Amino acid sequence: MTEDTGRIEDTGAEEDTSEPEVEVEEPVKEIEVEETKEKKPRANPLGLIFNLRMLRRFIQIGFFFAINAYIFVAWFHMPNVTRLFVTIRDMLPTLPILAPLQAPFATISGSFDTLQATFTTGIFPFFTLGAMIIILIFVGRAPCGWICPIGTMQDFVTLPKRTKARPSPSTEKELRKVKLYIFVVVVGLAIWMGIGRATGTAETLEAALAGFANDAFAPLNPAYILFVVIPNQLWPTSISTIWYFSTWGFALIQVAFVTVMFIISFWFPRWFCRWLCPAAYLYGIFSKESLIGIGRNPARCTPDTCNVCEVVCPMNIRIRKFPYQHMHSPDCIMCLDCKSHCPTDAIVLRFS
Ligand code: SF4
Ligand code: SF4
Ligand code: SF4
Repeated sequence: MTEDTGRIEDTGAEEDTSEPEVEVEEPVKEIEVEETKEKKPRANPLGLIFNLRMLRRFIQIGFFFAINAYIFVAWFHMPNVTRLFVTIRDMLPTLPILAPLQAPFATISGSFDTLQATFTTGIFPFFTLGAMIIILIFVGRAPCGWICPIGTMQDFVTLPKRTKARPSPSTEKELRKVKLYIFVVVVGLAIWMGIGRATGTAETLEAALAGFANDAFAPLNPAYILFVVIPNQLWPTSISTIWYFSTWGFALIQVAFVTVMFIISFWFPRWFCRWLCPAAYLYGIFSKESLIGIGRNPARCTPDTCNVCEVVCPMNIRIRKFPYQHMHSPDCIMCLDCKSHCPTDAIVLRFS
């Protein structure tokens, strides 16, 4: 497996419109550079294995299993491993990731999933909302970059070398709006159901919307499909019955969707996060002004002759358009790929 090499293929001749509110600090020329400028990993006391990129991969894999820790009991008869993850879970609130509450193996749930479920019951989710906002204000969308299982799976799909596709800035801007529309529909329905339940008028809406009433995002939610639909279809959860297919019906369409989603991620990194995920829209509202963020050292950055950071950024952020001091982008997932690849070590972590 190899990392994205950061080959420079900047196609954007148009002005960037993906973050329209951002003040352009100084004009930046669009450039065409032939040579890859990937930085050689620096020696560190713990050795190469613990460079930033490897560390993120380890944490992503660890959380992927931690989120589904009951698998260790159900399939592998390892209750101690599950107990360890459950202990960690008990110390954590819900996290700003995508992880459905209903997953049979789940130990951790996502803030968006929990908010949606709580709204439909007619209760205001003070604790979940508060915990989510505090996490996002401190570390931004780092949980998207380091923990979310759907982000992790998209990242691992993009590990083999390939030519990455980059939509034009205007297309990217339009596509990013789709997640806002999904967010409005999903949260709007959840609040409507909650008001119906609180006032005793939910039955009509529930009858009309059927399965969509309590979780309108579920049919499209890859985490729900992977961690709820598929395990429930394969139940009982013995590994010997994994290929037991029964009443699949609509579930097969969902599995096809999630498969196509990951295949597309090979050419369009994190496209689901960038364009479709309604949780991303919500998390971006609070992460934009996070205390920990990305900045560039003006003494080291050479934006006129280099765009490596933008080429490797899985969220297709036009990093050079932001002020040097702090890159306040709601789309940044703090993956630090830009930092790992910058040839002059110009990307710095800012605390402000
Ligand atoms: S944006 Fe991506 S990483 Fe973040 S919650 Fe959605 S699917 Fe997960
Ligand atoms: S931050 Fe690094 S990679 Fe990005 S333009 Fe500046 S020098 Fe190049
Ligand atoms: S700007 Fe850097 S840290 Fe943020 S998403 Fe892009 S590569 Fe990751």
